[in-house]
Amino acid sequence: MALSSIDHDIDRWLAGFRLDAFVHRHAAIVLTHLPAAVREDLMGDPNFHLCDYEPGPGVVMYVPAAAPGRNRASRSVVLKRTLRHRPAAFVTWLIAHEFAHAHLRHAGRWPGEDPELAADGLAATWGFPKPR
Ligand SMILES: [Zn+2]
Repeated sequence: MALSSIDHDIDRWLAGFRLDAFVHRHAAIVLTHLPAAVREDLMGDPNFHLCDYEPGPGVVMYVPAAAPGRNRASRSVVLKRTLRHRPAAFVTWLIAHEFAHAHLRHAGRWPGEDPELAADGLAATWGFPKPR
């Protein structure tokens, strides 16, 4: 399959979430680097939601979430638009880390593993190590 076809699918899928242009662009970069099975796990899930917001005084965030089915929680990733003030490597790591949580359903990769270490470990295997 041509990479441009994947890029097009990613772009079209992201457009449905109406993200800020900066967030959209960096989410697209991360999605392009995910293993196909992980990308399909997220993009193929109608209960997966992605949204962004501008943090500030008095901001009340509304997180859209599909009604979870029985034994099947919906997955949401919420990103702050203030990420635009951070270095690119931090932005892509943060987005990959959040996608990893969603993919792992906030669990570890194995029983007992800390979910934060799991998300960082998985993000690193996708090419987005935690910036030091
Ligand atoms: Zn985390």
